[in-house]
Amino acid sequence: MIVQGLQLEQFRNYSHFESEFHPKVNFIYGDNAQGKTNLLEAVTYLSTAHSHRARYDKELIQFQTECAVIRGQIESRNRAFCLEAKLMRGRTRQLYSNGVRLKTAGELCGILHTVLFCPEDLALIRDGAVARRRFLDQSICQLRPRYAQALSEYQRLYEHKTRILRDWKDHPSLLDTLDDFNFRMAQTGAMIVHYRAHFVKRLKETASAIHCDFCGGRDALSLEYATVSTIQDDMASVGTLFEWILQHQNSHRAAELESRQCLTGPHKDDLLVSINGQLAKQFGSQGQTRTAALSLKLAQRELFFQETGEYPVLLLDDVLSELDAGRQAFVLNHIQGGQIFITCCEPEKLHGLEIGKTFQIHGGKVIEQKAHM
Ligand code: ATP
Ligand code: MG
Repeated sequence: MIVQGLQLEQFRNYSHFESEFHPKVNFIYGDNAQGKTNLLEAVTYLSTAHSHRARYDKELIQFQTECAVIRGQIESRNRAFCLEAKLMRGRTRQLYSNGVRLKTAGELCGILHTVLFCPEDLALIRDGAVARRRFLDQSICQLRPRYAQALSEYQRLYEHKTRILRDWKDHPSLLDTLDDFNFRMAQTGAMIVHYRAHFVKRLKETASAIHCDFCGGRDALSLEYATVSTIQDDMASVGTLFEWILQHQNSHRAAELESRQCLTGPHKDDLLVSINGQLAKQFGSQGQTRTAALSLKLAQRELFFQETGEYPVLLLDDVLSELDAGRQAFVLNHIQGGQIFITCCEPEKLHGLEIGKTFQIHGGKVIEQKAHM
């Protein structure tokens, strides 16, 4: 999977940008606030129709202008695609593939896969379970379309059950449907647990191995999938998982009615990340947290490669800060395969990396680009 070229119009601080990229390592450097992250954000947008840091699309449109365009030439599954996103103030954005308007953002994900690592990703380790569930869900959705279906069905049931629990005291007849919702949530929940358990099993092995290389064997990363407490074995059959989830729901029925909240189910799952047996969330140093988060992302990319034979495009934003020399060397020397975009403030930091093409960015413009032989 390769981004061959990119054109931007009135996107963030880029009035106009166009460039061709190298199929291997693209190095983007420049001072703070010049547009390095903006460039990676544009590439990510073509794969997810979503920005990792903007709440609304209108934030991506250049100040005092009405419309932004992101266009990219992509090679994916041995085919060529031209993807385009048109963002307009006050109007719905438009997405195109080879000139044909796409109905959903999901259609983009099927063409360009990216794995982005940015400073905000420390949240993956540090924050609550939501960030880690989102990571699991995004990873599995990329590989298993049926998982995405189960997840949206579960979300629908969850929202409905939440309304029943919230309003039942004013409208007691709502309780007539509660058992049915519990049953269906246990059915769909069992599918979700099944997919998550199988994914975490593979993620564990891959992420631990990457992490071990990353820190020269000094620290050991371990992952554990934490789900509904009545589940004795998360690798059990979907039917058995269903029974266990239902059992947990029944034992919490009174508590749910009392608290008026949906207390049981895989919407509370977590992925426990430990370093040397201690929870990284509580005890990890800044560098350890960064190393663990990056290992998870690289493992996500590796698993995608193992399944599809293609590496997602790797976008590394400001990844070297806070890593010691050994860990920087790992990033620079051991991340191979597929196309990589890496940003950094100081070019001398990239010593040792086999760079394909370098871009120096200043004020939303490329002031120098150089291909390396
Ligand atoms: P750092 O090294 O600090 O991470 P960076 O090169 O990654 O910097 P970016 O985040 O890519 O910087 O770009 C930030 C610049 O883009 C800021 O100067 C900001 O004001 C500008 N910017 C952000 N959104 C818009 C917008 N909608 N229109 C115009 N300029 C914008
Ligand atoms: Mg930045």
